[in-house]
Amino acid sequence: GAARGIGLAIARWFFHQGYRVAVIDNDAPTLTATEATLRTELGARASDLLVIHGDVSDPAQVAAAVQRIEQTFGRLDALVNNAGVATFKPIGETSFDEWRWVMATNLDGPFLCVQACAPLMLKNGGGAVVNIASISGLRASTLRVAYGTSKAALIHLTRQQAVEYGNAGIRVNAIAPGPVETEMAKKVHTPAIRADYHDTIPLARYGSLEEIANAVGFLCSPQASYVNGQVLAVDGGFDAAGVGLPTLRRPAP
Ligand code: NAD
Repeated sequence: GAARGIGLAIARWFFHQGYRVAVIDNDAPTLTATEATLRTELGARASDLLVIHGDVSDPAQVAAAVQRIEQTFGRLDALVNNAGVATFKPIGETSFDEWRWVMATNLDGPFLCVQACAPLMLKNGGGAVVNIASISGLRASTLRVAYGTSKAALIHLTRQQAVEYGNAGIRVNAIAPGPVETEMAKKVHTPAIRADYHDTIPLARYGSLEEIANAVGFLCSPQASYVNGQVLAVDGGFDAAGVGLPTLRRPAP
C-alpha cells in the first residue's frame, strides 16, 4: 500500500536509510505515477526499487509478489503492512460487502503477507514486521464498526504473530496513528471532524507523514531489537487523553 500517503512516506524512509524497497499497491494509475517520481528521486539507485501491482488480500498475488522480491533482491529484512481502506458508516448502513472489503484489506492482507514473507525472512536469520493499525483500533467510535474492528483485530494479530515468530527471529509490532493528512483522511474527515481532532488531541494538530514513517522505521531498525509485540500510538497524545471532556479542558473562569 505504498503508491501514496503514509505507505509512500515509509518507502522513502527506507530509501534514505539505504534499503532496497519493493512497493506493492493495487491502484495501477497512482502506482505508475509514483514509480516515475521515485525513479527520478533515486537517480543512480533506481535499481533499488521494485514496483509490484498487486492486491494484498489475494493469496495468489501475495505469493507471486514475494517470489518476485526473492528473485530480485534475494532477501527480505522488513515488511510493513500499510495497505488499508476505510468506510465510515453507522452499523445499520454498513453493507456486508463493505464489511468484507474492509476486513479483507486491513486484516486478511497482513495475515497473508506475514505468512508469505516469513519463510524468506528466516532464510537470512529473521527480520521485522510493522502492521499499521489505527487509533480506531484502540478507541471505539461511531461510524467505525468495520474500520475500527478490523484495526483492533490487527492489533491482536500483531501479538499472535509476535509470539509465534519471535523466537525464530522475526519481531512484529504495530503502530496506531492518530489523524494524518492523506487522501484517505480527506475522504472521511469532514471540516467538523477536523476541528474536533484539533480540539481533542493534546498536541492540537494532525500528524505528518514523516512522523508516522519515523516511528515505523525505528521499529524495523536494529535500534528496536528488543521491542516485540507492542502497539505504539503515534497520535499526539490522543490515546492518553482518557476523560477528555471539553468542560475539563477549558480554563477555569
Ligand atoms: P491512502 O488511502 O492514502 O493509502 C492507502 C494505500 O493502500 C493506497 O495507495 C491504496 O491503493 C493501497 N491499497 C488499498 N487496498 C489495497 C490492497 N488490497 N492491496 C494493495 N494496496 C492497497 O491511506 P493512508 O491514509 O496513507 O493510510 C495508510 C494506512 O494508515 C492505512 O492502513 C490506514 O488505515 C492507516 N491509518 C491512516 C490514518 C489517517 O488519518 N490517514 C490514521 C490511522 C491509520
